[in-house]
Amino acid sequence: MPEDRREQAGEGPRDGGVPARVERVQVRPQSLERFRDVLPAARWRRVEDALARAGSVLTDRVVWNVNSTARGGGVAEMLRSLIGYARGAGVDARWMTISGDARFFEVTKRLHNRLHGSPGDGGPLGTSERAVYEAPLRRCADALLEQMRSRDLVVLHDPQTAPLVPLLADSGARIAWRSHIGQDTPNALALEAWRFLLPYVQHADVCIFSRQAYAWGGIETGRLAFIHPSIDAFSVKNQELDPDDVLAILAAAGILDGAGGGPAKFSRADETPGLVQRRTQLVEAGRLRAATQVAVQVSRWDRLKDPLGVVEGFAAHVAADSPAHLVLAGAETGAVADDPEGAEVLAEVEQAWTRLDPGTRERVHLACLPMEDAEENAVIVNALQRHASVVCQKSIAEGFGLTVAEAMWKARPVVATRVGGIQDQIVHGVSGYLIDDPRDLAEFGAAITAFLNEPATAAKVGARARRRARDKFLGPDHLIHYLRLFERLLKEKPSAKKLARPV
Ligand code: UDP
Repeated sequence: MPEDRREQAGEGPRDGGVPARVERVQVRPQSLERFRDVLPAARWRRVEDALARAGSVLTDRVVWNVNSTARGGGVAEMLRSLIGYARGAGVDARWMTISGDARFFEVTKRLHNRLHGSPGDGGPLGTSERAVYEAPLRRCADALLEQMRSRDLVVLHDPQTAPLVPLLADSGARIAWRSHIGQDTPNALALEAWRFLLPYVQHADVCIFSRQAYAWGGIETGRLAFIHPSIDAFSVKNQELDPDDVLAILAAAGILDGAGGGPAKFSRADETPGLVQRRTQLVEAGRLRAATQVAVQVSRWDRLKDPLGVVEGFAAHVAADSPAHLVLAGAETGAVADDPEGAEVLAEVEQAWTRLDPGTRERVHLACLPMEDAEENAVIVNALQRHASVVCQKSIAEGFGLTVAEAMWKARPVVATRVGGIQDQIVHGVSGYLIDDPRDLAEFGAAITAFLNEPATAAKVGARARRRARDKFLGPDHLIHYLRLFERLLKEKPSAKKLARPV
């Protein structure tokens, strides 16, 4: 991926050696015009209407987006795409990243883990953690306040930015805090983290969550908003690929047997040509051929994605009724130091694979996709999803599940569990299949087998899935949700609460 051009926008005074930088991430403007041919006429008119409204509502206002990283993870990917389209539409949307010291990120990682219901490093969340959490952000706030005006709108993303909510109140700008994390039923650990965050985020004009179940109390209803994530139809992950290119990419990556014919080409985000050259690390006992039907799950090597359940479900409830293969793909776990759990989970799946009967083992492929070049990795995911006869997402828990929207956009029939945001994406029996009980391997296997053995049904469901993804989970819809929210915020008087500094 081409390097970001990031420029330092400000550095607050250093106190006690706490580094705190605010950097602006430069984003290439993209025209929404490219959606004219993708969206049905009525939906495109809504986009045009929104563009016209944005022109008047957002004139002479900056829409600031603040998070803690310019790369890596779904939030950064989404910001790059949405800010690019907003800028292309003439909106002065800017992306700033904050940073802190190691102790700051220790606390934010602890919060992140707790919000997901897991203890993380097991450390406390008390008064001294608040001090560590707030110190760098005070300096970042000073740098941001130098540039913000009362006309502006600010969207602060995720726990890393929460202490900025009261600190930026002096700007007079409307402030939204957006959480990209969520669980349908928070456990005690998640609620502990939420109580830690509340004193900051309750001062926002609005708190945005991906779904209603993720708002865990403490914020009055009138200051809640719900916006689900989206995918970029034109990103390397989702761009259209010719069937021949799909085969060439999967062959070049080593996933499909054979030379694949043509070059494994794709278009990079900056529109320069790319070529897949790196090979996938495969655990397999037989080769996958182009003509063989295949069920695919793409996900991190994480127990919550239930890779063991996918292998066991395939072996026990698909293998006997279909000649299809299974590809379980995730990023390579070479950088074990940053993801020790990923390597551990992959090792567990390999052990389960070893225990399969030889006939089934030949049909199960564990694929660790190369990660050196993020766009090469993305286009391999793209090709795998497009090549799949069925895509599965057998998560035990899921915030949203971008892989589901990605597969739906590619007109794949998806078999997934009815958890988190997945249930907002698939309409059961219409645009995919939802398994009520994530542990029910028999139902999981039967749903996959049915799609494999009934290609006409699979194609019909896939076509409806694409329409649903097009209508609900693409960037333009996401931007319209934001615009409506901004219109609402600008009509309201600034909240009196905002003026208090609680921290
Ligand atoms: N992904 C990827 N390369 C990989 C494995 C996964 O780009 O080798 C992507 C996947 O396509 C999706 C994202 O990582 O866009 C995972 O997001 P999701 O919401 O499905 O799950 P999360 O990992 O955030 O729990």
